[in-house]
Amino acid sequence: MKQILALTLTAALSAGAMAQDFPSKPISIVVPFAAGGPTDLVARQLAEAMRKPLGGANIVVENAAGAGGTIGATKVARAKPDGYTLLVWHIGMAATTSLYRKQSFKPLEDFEYLGAINDVPMTLLGSNKLNANTYRDFEAYIRANGGKLNLAHAGLGSASHLCGLMWQSAMKLDKSMTTIPYGGTAPAMNDLIGGQVDVMCDQTTNTTSQIEAGRVKAFAVTTAKPLSNHKLLKDYPSLQEMGLKDFSLTIWHGLYAPKGTPADVTKKLNDALKVALKDPEFIKKQEALGAIVVTDNRLTPAGHKAFVADQISKLKTAIEAAGQFAD
Ligand code: ASP
Repeated sequence: MKQILALTLTAALSAGAMAQDFPSKPISIVVPFAAGGPTDLVARQLAEAMRKPLGGANIVVENAAGAGGTIGATKVARAKPDGYTLLVWHIGMAATTSLYRKQSFKPLEDFEYLGAINDVPMTLLGSNKLNANTYRDFEAYIRANGGKLNLAHAGLGSASHLCGLMWQSAMKLDKSMTTIPYGGTAPAMNDLIGGQVDVMCDQTTNTTSQIEAGRVKAFAVTTAKPLSNHKLLKDYPSLQEMGLKDFSLTIWHGLYAPKGTPADVTKKLNDALKVALKDPEFIKKQEALGAIVVTDNRLTPAGHKAFVADQISKLKTAIEAAGQFAD
């Protein structure tokens, strides 16, 4: 009995000491998509902004792409819960649990929620080869050629997949496009620019500079209303305006740790996240990409978790209505 008590006491003391010293080695942020894409970009900017509030900690980004983000997420769900392995993920945290009927982790049970990061609209794009310049041309072209066209996305369960799924279902296309999965929308964007694929829906964080450079055609935004404050994207219609009733899709990103990470460590991480999200440099960089940094109660772990729970039920309805699953 005495021995058990002593062991428990030692474990508690060393956990306490661990939290006090945290971080004493590099922190790894897992991005479940390819490098250079929108999730990667958000994570890298966040890593830089969190460095100072974490006492100059070394924060590295690790890409673990595949299966629409679920490979990287599973890796973090199973990592040692010590605060040194974190996950930056997006709406996939809420969508994949309905898209994958068999999933290797539970979004509300296997993570400590550290807080939300931003909200990002999406843009619907086509390759420059497409014979269409406005959404109306594009729509007519898709209706006539749907079965022959390719839609690129970042894997089953990714945001680009979800957007393509919801958009095609709202359009009630006779023939769906063939979907082509990539490890992230960075490589998918290269093929859209090259004309190997025809259509993609992706976060403005990845699309803004390509639209500006004229490498791809943009047709619409996925938010309920047009982005009237965005310098470059303000003139594109919303899909809802174009007749897709109730269509509204905004991608959010959040920061997570494995379940069981000590409370004082998660508090330090949440505090650092809150400081990072107020950093004017970070806000400016995010705004330039069309992202809006979170300021509401999703900044708290409980607030973000409640929001994700609500998103899970809303997306379940939308995904079941679209009737397409990843497995
Ligand atoms: N934008 C991607 C998605 O569709 C992921 C990425 O490459 O960051 O989910």
